[in-house]
Amino acid sequence: MAFNVRTRRILIIFLISGWLISLCYYFLRTHLPKQPFQASQLYRDNRLLMGTIWEVVSPSKQASAIVFAEALRIEQLLSKYIPLSEISQLNRLGKSKVSSDTFYIIKKSQEIYRLSQGAFDITVAPLVDLWGFSDQNFRIPSDENIRATLKLVGSDKIILHQNNNVVEFKIPGMRIDLGGIAKGYALDCAVNKLKENNINNCLINAGGQIYALGDKFKTPWKIAIQGTGKSEFAGSYTLKNKSASTSGNYEQFFFKNGLRYCHIIDPRTGYPAQTQIASVTVIADYGIIADALSTAIFVLGKKDGKELAKQFPETEIKIYP
Ligand code: ADP
Ligand code: MG
Repeated sequence: MAFNVRTRRILIIFLISGWLISLCYYFLRTHLPKQPFQASQLYRDNRLLMGTIWEVVSPSKQASAIVFAEALRIEQLLSKYIPLSEISQLNRLGKSKVSSDTFYIIKKSQEIYRLSQGAFDITVAPLVDLWGFSDQNFRIPSDENIRATLKLVGSDKIILHQNNNVVEFKIPGMRIDLGGIAKGYALDCAVNKLKENNINNCLINAGGQIYALGDKFKTPWKIAIQGTGKSEFAGSYTLKNKSASTSGNYEQFFFKNGLRYCHIIDPRTGYPAQTQIASVTVIADYGIIADALSTAIFVLGKKDGKELAKQFPETEIKIYP
């Protein structure tokens, strides 16, 4: 079959264009990223703060610096291990003017003390020291020592002067320990700072105290809860704009004569809490509530713990035996 010159030219142009298109297609497939327009990068960072590892995951590169700065600010105010913190000064002097952050967290602690019938009590500091949980020099104190120390315990003996942010202890020698609530408060402060900076998606894990802000590329953040043994897995949750806090007897403890003594103290007896639960997870709208309630419910045990949780209708609790 013979083609005239015009037809032959058209055929050659077709062949060359087909060949060029195949070449371009092959080049684009091999050289461009698979999903070039999907913003799927997550930034991760971690830092040791408030005695635990803080881990921050977010699509925003700036998120971790904002979270760490806020946790450091709260640690400097509230840590009993930092000699110049407001709490250390208050513990030394028995009466002190404090910042609005410190005043707020002490006030909130006192509210939860009342609601939990004394199970959550920041004045446990002398008992935490007596059992050796502050310096890791664990010991079983004598009953007499425990009875004497209990006289310094009770958040009803904290006077809050609302007009000038002065906090005062009724009994000399009283001290406070915010270890059961401070990380939850720091999470709330960090989340507020993220929002102020228009960062609305971030997952923060402060050693088991978690806040899930927004989501992860339109799917909710998924978190895993550690079980009773360090390597065990208790359950997983999806969270959005909520905090989850877990308190357990495996965080800090020591064994003596076959008994396990953990770092959460029952302020009503002066002994480490001996409930039949290994851990409790509380999910709440605010970190401060989740943190304080998980400590309180651990002390109260299953039955009374559930009663306490009923007073916070927006919370969800999970008790692991
Ligand atoms: P985590 O150590 O994981 O933060 P918690 O939030 O349960 O666990 O807090 C435990 C800490 O709270 C203890 O190390 C101690 O500093 C303090 N604490 C111990 N017993 C009580 C209590 N009954 N009420 C309030 N705080 C407590
Ligand atoms: Mg707590």
